[in-house]
Amino acid sequence: MFSGNLNSLYYLIDCDTNKFPTEQLNVNNMQAESVKIVSNWGIGKDWTLFLDRDGVINQRIIDHYVCKWDEFHYIEGVLQAIRKFSSIFRNIVVVTNQRGINRGLMTHQDLSEIFDKMRQSIEKAGGRIDQFYYCPHLVEEGCNCRKPKIGMGLQAKKEFPNIDFKKSVMVGDMITDMEFGKGLGMKTIYLTNHRNTYYPNRSDVIDAYFSQLSDFANVLMEDTW
Ligand SMILES: [Mg+2]
Repeated sequence: MFSGNLNSLYYLIDCDTNKFPTEQLNVNNMQAESVKIVSNWGIGKDWTLFLDRDGVINQRIIDHYVCKWDEFHYIEGVLQAIRKFSSIFRNIVVVTNQRGINRGLMTHQDLSEIFDKMRQSIEKAGGRIDQFYYCPHLVEEGCNCRKPKIGMGLQAKKEFPNIDFKKSVMVGDMITDMEFGKGLGMKTIYLTNHRNTYYPNRSDVIDAYFSQLSDFANVLMEDTW
């Protein structure tokens, strides 16, 4: 059962969140608790960071896809956060579902151009992304790479054999991101994007909650690594 109002609940059940939350939590309490949880993980230079893209790095467009660069807008504080992560994590990879491709709304080339521009702007800000992985498939194609399936994680491990999933963090804004991370044995961080005060209690797949990526970056103190 859940408490809280129905409107906030509907907001949570958006396109990729196919599991109905059974209970809701107050995120203000959760975020304070999450600082402690993340601090205890012992994140260091042999760790890998997996980032979802839309709703984590850039603003999601509800009911549409980011098909070109002028539709891509960084969430505030993300460039600085990635710069900080770059001095801490050994690998930083993006794993993103982009079914707009197989819906015919954009091409592989369009997406590749967006990744190039992201890479350029992130590097200009002093950060880095080591690789971008994406799934172009529709749900009904039954691929192995559309999150929550773990294919993109396995692909990353193949390319970066030093990835240790037990020393990896997945940051996303969907339950499917959390299921992807847990499916590989990672730590998971759920970003709420200030959507509401109450969030689903999915402690089976969510380890920590923050409002946005910069809140997670702020917990990590790069000087100490
Ligand atoms: Mg997302």
